[in-house]
Amino acid sequence: MLFTTSFPENDIARYVNETATYIKTQREAYLPDAAPLSPREQEVFRPFFNEGILRTTLFSRKPDGPMETPAFLKELNDRGVAFSWDRLEAITFVDMVVFYRDLEPNIQFHELVHAVQYQKLGLKQFANKYVRGLLSRGSYEKIPLEANARLLEEKFFKDPTQAFSVEAEVQRWINENKF
Ligand SMILES: [Zn+2]
Repeated sequence: MLFTTSFPENDIARYVNETATYIKTQREAYLPDAAPLSPREQEVFRPFFNEGILRTTLFSRKPDGPMETPAFLKELNDRGVAFSWDRLEAITFVDMVVFYRDLEPNIQFHELVHAVQYQKLGLKQFANKYVRGLLSRGSYEKIPLEANARLLEEKFFKDPTQAFSVEAEVQRWINENKF
């Protein structure tokens, strides 16, 4: 089914701003308890990510279950946008991943892809493309930034011994204007 609701540009710009602010404040809130992946975990991802991403991406465990859905997303849900925030196992805020239960390696991989996307696009452009992707396509699954992360995650999951560069793949999507 085609998503036909269209949002006025004013609304879109407001959601982009609210999302960018939300990302920033969440990153700051969870930062004190965050730590990098263990050396053994980093080893698993070394064939796919550059050293900087592996060393500087932090993971922060939320002790009390899934994250609460932000107000602007509840509003979007009411307007017909499909996005179940509370079903997400982990969420990446720039260079910091919040999770609430032990993560499988493929989920860690997925979040590291988002960290690469943030690094290349910057917070503002990430928020802009994420929100516009969501509003133009109507669901979480169809956001191009998510499709990219899911595709690379699946490639890793299928054969964790087959090295490839996530950075090069994300850059290719940027060059081809796919976000
Ligand atoms: Zn994702």
